[in-house]
Amino acid sequence: MEPFLAARAARTLFLALAVCGGLSLPDAARAEGGARRVVILTGTEVMLPASQVEDGVIRQILSSAPAGPIEFYSEGLDAYRFDTAEYEREFAAFLSRKYRDKEPDLIFALSDPALEFLTRNRGELWPHAPVVFTSVDRNYFQDRPRPSWATGILDYDSIGRTIALGRQLQPTARRILVIAGAGERDRRFAKTVAETLERLRPGLDVVVRTGTPVSAFSREFGSLSSDTILLYTSMMRDNDGRSVVPRDAAKALAAAASVPVYGTHSTYLGTGILGGALFDYANEGRAAAQMGLRILGGETPGALPVLGGSPPLLAVDGRQLDRFGIPTRRLPPEYEIRFRGPTFWEQYRWRIVAVGLALAIETVLLIALFAERQSRRRAQKESRQHRSELAHASRLATVGQLAASISHEINQPLGAILANAETAEILLDSAASNPEELRQILADIRRDDVRASEVMRRVRALAARHDMEMHPVELNAVAQAAAGILEPEARRRGVALQRDFRGGLPETRGDDVSLQQVIINLALNGMEAMAEMPSDRRRLVIATRNGNGRAVVRVSDTGRGISLEDRAKLFESFFTTKRNGLGLGLSICRSIIEAHGGRISALDNGGGGATFEFELPAVAAGTPRRNDDARA
Ligand code: ADP
Repeated sequence: MEPFLAARAARTLFLALAVCGGLSLPDAARAEGGARRVVILTGTEVMLPASQVEDGVIRQILSSAPAGPIEFYSEGLDAYRFDTAEYEREFAAFLSRKYRDKEPDLIFALSDPALEFLTRNRGELWPHAPVVFTSVDRNYFQDRPRPSWATGILDYDSIGRTIALGRQLQPTARRILVIAGAGERDRRFAKTVAETLERLRPGLDVVVRTGTPVSAFSREFGSLSSDTILLYTSMMRDNDGRSVVPRDAAKALAAAASVPVYGTHSTYLGTGILGGALFDYANEGRAAAQMGLRILGGETPGALPVLGGSPPLLAVDGRQLDRFGIPTRRLPPEYEIRFRGPTFWEQYRWRIVAVGLALAIETVLLIALFAERQSRRRAQKESRQHRSELAHASRLATVGQLAASISHEINQPLGAILANAETAEILLDSAASNPEELRQILADIRRDDVRASEVMRRVRALAARHDMEMHPVELNAVAQAAAGILEPEARRRGVALQRDFRGGLPETRGDDVSLQQVIINLALNGMEAMAEMPSDRRRLVIATRNGNGRAVVRVSDTGRGISLEDRAKLFESFFTTKRNGLGLGLSICRSIIEAHGGRISALDNGGGGATFEFELPAVAAGTPRRNDDARA
């Protein structure tokens, strides 16, 4: 006897004994091998992603259930690539030999070809093994009865839901393009899809393209208009007869297509397709495994109803949403987004909040600083205005102080003019009038008039309301003009006024009227300090010089000098030792000099008298000669 036949005879005998002994078949098989045997027979090859997913899930669920030890065997019929009767015979013989002493307790048949194979060969091969099938065409049992030894899950498609998703994500879509392979199963699937679309009547043009080779994807689908919903079903074979892994074709299509690719199976997700209501092999595997467990638990397949499908996976690839600029808000809430890393916000939320907070605080601080700067500027402007008004008032007071000498200074030329005019009259009346003499008199009158006008001009300049303006100034000229105004007063007071103006003064900037005012103020103070001195000892020197690159003006007198105690308070407002003094002159002088960026100081001469000195900074090379306001 052939070993193969001998084994079968032995097994038949054993099974007969087992049945007579009242044992159920699985128990008998287990009794023979110690562990239950489960064969997972896929109609495709075992390495196809769909087969791998489903095979893996079935193994995982069965082995984690308390059904005792299970041995798993995976077989791939590969019927889409090998479909001759001879091949099937050889394959059946191979299985028969392989499982000679190991009849399975349960068989999972994945897809139609596997179920068909078992229908034809189970009787010879494993006549007692119950079968759980999956991924079987939903019309499979329309024209044949369901065998009592099998139950399982029929194929289904969620095309309607996927198209609804497409219309939601691409609201301007006008047509549906279905891409499918040229294999028998591909065409069958595409036909089912087309029928579904026909039934749904989506109101869009539907075009089905089958068998386009992967190498032509770019050319054919690389410039589709954006109003196309592109649905990829499956491709196991192309028009060139080349066999293709459907998942690889999905990847190639997603890379080539100019529009998002909607898919039909969960195994395509992650290859670059957008997603859809996807047939989920894991879900189907789970449902099949549950049926298998019930059968291993003693239920017969005939008692378990055939399921019309398993839940689809509603998912999209977040990267594809981004790639096609599809806003997430268009996605129905039941869809899950995969492959999208946390958004920038999710990833750096606290850092963004911290930076935002810091920016907000900084902004508030900036606004506060700006407001503070504005109010300081306003205050500075007001203070400048006050200072200017005070300086003006002080100049008026100075003019008042000089009133006697000024009137004397004007009266003198006026008197001379009068005398000259009278002389001219006399000359005209007399017969001996000499035109040359008259011309001389008129020239004198003009000179005296010019002199009086000049005095008036100086006084008017001093008394006029005036805003401090910075210009390049010749300090010697300023000192000279001040001395000119002071001269009559000095004469009146019996003070010898000396000028000691040196050359080589650095160039400075300033307001000449204000600087003049300072010199006059200092000089008048000096003259007053000498009032008690004998007239031959009253000497006032106005000197200028270059002090280490700064322009220095010094006013010294031979008066009573300054006590150490007074020196500290001299420049304070309202400090005065005079009966009618206001104590503002020196404080105004100081504010003027400081507005020029300079310094003013006073010292006792030691041997009698006091010296007041102020210095102004030289204009730095390159400093713009702008006519700008002094900012005190
Ligand atoms: P006022 O002249 O109204 O007193 P100032 O501010 O001009 O106000 O002067 C303040 C005080 O400084 C004077 O009262 C005087 O005591 C003192 N002082 C100013 N200049 C001299 C000087 N050349 N010699 C001595 N004391 C002076």
